[in-house]
Amino acid sequence: MSRRRLIAGNWKMNKTPQETAAFVEDFAPRVASFFEIEVLLIPPYTSLEPASRQLVGTSIALGAQDLHSEPSGAYTGAISAQMLAACGCRYVLVGHSERRHVFGDDDATVRRKLGSALDGRLLPILCIGETIDERRGGATPEILTRQLTVGLDGLDAGAMKSIVVAYEPVWAIGTGETATPEQAQEAIAGIRAWLSGRFDEPTAGRARILYGGSVKPGNAAELMRLPDVDGVLVGGASLDPEAFAAIAQAGRSVVESE
Ligand code: PEP
Repeated sequence: MSRRRLIAGNWKMNKTPQETAAFVEDFAPRVASFFEIEVLLIPPYTSLEPASRQLVGTSIALGAQDLHSEPSGAYTGAISAQMLAACGCRYVLVGHSERRHVFGDDDATVRRKLGSALDGRLLPILCIGETIDERRGGATPEILTRQLTVGLDGLDAGAMKSIVVAYEPVWAIGTGETATPEQAQEAIAGIRAWLSGRFDEPTAGRARILYGGSVKPGNAAELMRLPDVDGVLVGGASLDPEAFAAIAQAGRSVVESE
């Protein structure tokens, strides 16, 4: 498989710049030789600039948790794609379930943020996923289709080279309840099939699609062995250098065993 596995750690609202520095000092040597996979840290905004300086000379990429859809202006408290790129970011999350459900980002807002990320030469990670009620009601395919349709509205196949999709069932985020391998594979294969219909088969075959939701060292390998899962987006377990390195090691072992 030519899709490079991506192991991303979303720290949410955790770690000061000092705590970030201590994490990187411990974590970077643990993954220094992991060339088979891509490792990505997504700390809070305040840690980005110092982390990017500390990561020089490593192969660890840096990303942000959100951005504003406009490049500049009277948007108190907001951060633009250009600012993130200037702080050394390569990736940015858009549509994380906490942004959707806590901060009210709807699909149209997510689409605008994704466009702004692309304009700012960042690689957006478009997060999508259903709630537990939606799953119980059998609406998962419909919800994912809506989030993809609006989130990628108007884009051509070429844009997909710069976009990662993350399937994160809302009921699995921060709950300790992971999707079963069957549930993860079914949803992610469905996303790939949708991409194939919306764009074309080679585009869908190249697209990286991650799983997120209570990924831990103990379940990471099983998830990354699934045929359509190209990596993981990790919240809680990415805060601990040993646990996150173990998840990266799981990704590396899966690649080595292929
Ligand atoms: C996340 O924040 O994207 C996430 C998946 O969190 P957790 O791993 O803690 O469920």
